[in-house]
Amino acid sequence: MERFDSIFMAAPDAIIVIDQSGYILRWNPKAEILFGWTAKEATYRPLSEMIIPQRYREAHQKGMSHFLSTGEGPVLGKTVEIQGLHKNGTEIAIALSISPTIIEGKYMFIGFIRDITGKKLLEKEIREANMTLENKVRQRTLELEQKNKEMEQFAYIASHDLREPLRTISSFAALLKDQYYQKLDGNANQYIDFLTQSSDRMGILIKDLLDYSRLGKSKDLHRIDTYDILEEVLADLDSIIQGNQAAITARHLPVIEGYRTELKLLFQNLLTNAIKFRKRETPPQISIDAEKTDGVWTFSFRDNGIGIEKQHQERIFIIFQRLHTRKEYEGSGIGLAHCKKIVELHGGRIWVESSPGEGSTFFLTLPATTDSP
Ligand code: ADP
Repeated sequence: MERFDSIFMAAPDAIIVIDQSGYILRWNPKAEILFGWTAKEATYRPLSEMIIPQRYREAHQKGMSHFLSTGEGPVLGKTVEIQGLHKNGTEIAIALSISPTIIEGKYMFIGFIRDITGKKLLEKEIREANMTLENKVRQRTLELEQKNKEMEQFAYIASHDLREPLRTISSFAALLKDQYYQKLDGNANQYIDFLTQSSDRMGILIKDLLDYSRLGKSKDLHRIDTYDILEEVLADLDSIIQGNQAAITARHLPVIEGYRTELKLLFQNLLTNAIKFRKRETPPQISIDAEKTDGVWTFSFRDNGIGIEKQHQERIFIIFQRLHTRKEYEGSGIGLAHCKKIVELHGGRIWVESSPGEGSTFFLTLPATTDSP
């Protein structure tokens, strides 16, 4: 009893002892501070009137009688976080644990109570900060989506409208060549050739840009066997595959849910690059693989080509970014931008791992269908 008394008096938590009728028997100094009532004021008064807010009193009574008749109590032996009532009528957040004990054949309940106002306030602040952050992220995402749409709209209109004057330039350059080629001197003929080549090239760039802004417009998701996609692409690329003596292997290619035309373009761009950026003396060897983890397929396209230096590995996915002149390797620098847009359209991401002279592996993730193995 003595030991209990010294713990009781010095405890950092409020300790309240009640009898089985709910009357307060003991009330320690920390309970005085927490609830505002002195031990003298609280002792022999019903607990529910002193520290339980009105709305919980009935539940408290029922809980006590249920325990006395059955020996069971859902809050016993646990810590529950509830509201307590202070003498001045305000409510305080408390953590409460109750242990029943039998003394001289009668139940007594010892309640240990801790003030958790600070913790609750902190939780509230964290919740509010999270909400503000989430709202900000949502707002930013909406703004970015809007900006993206505007950019695409702009690219579409610009490239569409540029076609018309370009067509005029091309056809007059062709006329000039047809009708005046023989009558002009060598310099003038060369100028006409430059004019024709540049306008042809601009035609290709504009078409690429138009294709880019049109990507994903169809929005029709289908179940697609990526083996079929690969076979179609291999058939389309047959002559460059043969011409380069490229060896291509594939395994584990799954059925996924996606956009058919876009996926075909994705495979086609990656394969064309893997063949195009080959080492001069070594025929291209390309292996395609896929692996599923956590509901996501990661595809890899590995080649034995020239490789890409670390510092360029991010910027090659930006539209019109190239690492070589057109004399070295033909192209307009849009292929990987297409790939990135297609993969992101499917909710995935794309990246490359490579070292110069040792080949490159392009990785991309695509969501798995719910029923695929
Ligand atoms: P393009 O092929 O028309 O140049 P891409 O957007 O497809 O445009 O590629 C951008 C650049 O990334 C290429 O110019 C090349 O330098 C580099 N690249 C792409 N794929 C490979 C690859 N498999 N191996 C080495 N370099 C590559």
